[in-house]
Amino acid sequence: MADYIYTLETRLSPDQLKAVTLVQDAAKAAEMNLYLTGGAIRDVISGLPIRDLDFTVQGNALKLQKDLERAGAVVGDSDDATKALLLTFKGGVRAEIAMARSERYDKPGKPPQIAPATISEDLRRRDFTVNAMALSLNEGSRGLLMDPFNGAADIEAKVIRVLHNYAFLEDPSRLIRASRFTTRFHWPLEDRTQARYVSAKENNYIEYIRSSTIGYEIEQLAYEDDPLSVLKVYEKEGWLKVLNPRWSTAKVDSVGLGALMKTRQQMNELGYAPDAAPAVLYFLTDRMGEKDISDLRRAIPRKDLVEAWKDLEDHAQQLAKRLAGKEAATPSRTWQLLSGARPEMILFLAITARQQAVAQKIKNFFTKWRQVQQKIPLLEMTELHITPQLPAYPKISNDVFLLLLDGKLRSRTETLKYLKPLAPPPPPPPPPPSAKRGRAAKAAAAAAAATATVIAASAKAKGKGKDQPAATPAVVAAKPAAKGKPATAKPAPPAKPAAPAKPSKPETPAKKSAAKPKAKPAPKKGQRNKAKGKKR
Ligand code: ATP
Repeated sequence: MADYIYTLETRLSPDQLKAVTLVQDAAKAAEMNLYLTGGAIRDVISGLPIRDLDFTVQGNALKLQKDLERAGAVVGDSDDATKALLLTFKGGVRAEIAMARSERYDKPGKPPQIAPATISEDLRRRDFTVNAMALSLNEGSRGLLMDPFNGAADIEAKVIRVLHNYAFLEDPSRLIRASRFTTRFHWPLEDRTQARYVSAKENNYIEYIRSSTIGYEIEQLAYEDDPLSVLKVYEKEGWLKVLNPRWSTAKVDSVGLGALMKTRQQMNELGYAPDAAPAVLYFLTDRMGEKDISDLRRAIPRKDLVEAWKDLEDHAQQLAKRLAGKEAATPSRTWQLLSGARPEMILFLAITARQQAVAQKIKNFFTKWRQVQQKIPLLEMTELHITPQLPAYPKISNDVFLLLLDGKLRSRTETLKYLKPLAPPPPPPPPPPSAKRGRAAKAAAAAAAATATVIAASAKAKGKGKDQPAATPAVVAAKPAAKGKPATAKPAPPAKPAAPAKPSKPETPAKKSAAKPKAKPAPKKGQRNKAKGKKR
């Protein structure tokens, strides 16, 4: 049986894992059963990137809000009808926690009748088989996968399949979702689903779409890795005008969007995880009028996303101003300024900066200046005992880096000269031999004394008469010696003090470790040769 918890733990990012733990704790405290559901499970099983976390609780998810906010989550929106919370956790982890519910559609275009339900009933209201699975996060059943529609098999077959014949009629936003998933995954619609899709289009089911689902689907575009491809498909299928009648691919700044995705990828590789969603929306709607943009913003449920989109230009402008001013007069000051800036702003400004100097500084931050890190003499720093264990280590290494960046340490010699006074005192010698060792030594000494007595007695006996058996010293002394301990207890030699800081002659690490015993001051030339001769 597959170990889904193991897969989950290895596939989620550390921040996502923390978010799972926080939600688990909150649900446990509220005594609610918790499941990971929807796209997160699909992505865990299929090995695709896990973009967000969908949780379902048996109970009112809104009750978890305070606990989760206390734990640092930001609530982007909450929905009273579905008792759902849209959250952002540390590291930009998006999550939704919703109440397990059943939905009954009485009339096309009308919202469904919602009622609290079990997780099994909840899975029945889902859009596609690959999204209709739940993984238990509860004690006792943790790791149990509920897959009533055999979504795992459809993931294996790489197809998108609706749960029943009325799927598109009940909720026409599923037509848009079907287009989004087929474009993203390159998985086709399963044959019958395809037939239903075509018939839904012919019968114009889309006119029954609810406005709340429109906003949700606009929002989802912001998180696509290739939003332009999805937008093109939406346009072709007729869905784009449903999201906004004046939206078209001609309104997109495709060059800006392409640069955004490329820069985000570069930032990811350097360990930054900027949330590109606000900037994606900015470029997707670049040539749209103010009113249309306001309409789109109003429709989006996640208010934190809307705010970030609105503030994007102003915040980036502020950063550009600082980068052009005295605050960024030197490379080190620019480095510090950019290191403290929000990655989202750097990402956006990297593409939109109008001043060449500002763009160049961001470019240096990502490329040239990073290479200076390699000039930090880590090996020599270790010899000087300037290691990560030292509380002052982060500051020392950062200061060296900044000085190198500004060209204030121009050579290795200069760098070492700067570092030497910062070296901590040599470590203290190791403690004297332990009490146990002392006792053992005493015992050995006693044994040796006994041996001496026996030898003396034996010698006496030998002198007296040759018939009497004599204990040989070897046998008597064999006992302590057998344990590898000497018959007489020798105190361990005192630990040698640490090597004094060496001038920075480039040496191979192997040479250095060979020259390790540095307790004594370095012998003079002749002495060194002597010592060498002795060894040989
Ligand atoms: P993504 O990777 O785009 O986030 P997702 O499957 O997680 O994909 P969401 O829009 O986050 O998509 O929705 C979460 C889950 O909620 C879905 O997996 C699906 O089970 C369910 N869901 C969302 N929208 C609908 C819908 N219109 N009808 C039925 N179920 C839906």
